[in-house]
Amino acid sequence: MDQHDLMRQLRKLGTESDSTLKYSYDHLMMDWDEVTAISKHPLITIGSHTEQHYVLTLLEEEQLKQEIHNARKILESRLDKKVRCFSYPFGGSYHVNQREIDEAVRAGYLCACTTSYGHIRGTDKSELFRIPRIGIDYFDTLEQISWKLSGLDVLFRLNRELRLE
Ligand SMILES: [Zn+2]
Repeated sequence: MDQHDLMRQLRKLGTESDSTLKYSYDHLMMDWDEVTAISKHPLITIGSHTEQHYVLTLLEEEQLKQEIHNARKILESRLDKKVRCFSYPFGGSYHVNQREIDEAVRAGYLCACTTSYGHIRGTDKSELFRIPRIGIDYFDTLEQISWKLSGLDVLFRLNRELRLE
């Protein structure tokens, strides 16, 4: 079973009225009016994240293109503004290769986020398509957030990784 079949089966289960998997996440999602409203705030940037949230590295060339390009077109049409940032679904090292980066560049994005932990390490322009993250967890205290944002957490982890090698 490939990921397309799996998604179809999950959608079917989620919409069957007698399914035990039926659960609505609508209350956790913003509707278009809310997204449009926050997109007008000067400190908020709306980025794109594909249509179906597939693992991009498992897609055929044409589907990869559709996923990356169509999501942007839909957002731009609904928000009536350019969408320049992209985020790779799942975003780990198994989910983003050069092919996915090249397609994000071709789609006209200016940058793209991964889920790799850390700070941008280089000054090369290509780093803009491998932007790492520092995750802030629901349970993080203000001190932990401050520690993460200081950059010391990244250095501490890097040092630990280097000692393990
Ligand atoms: Zn996602």
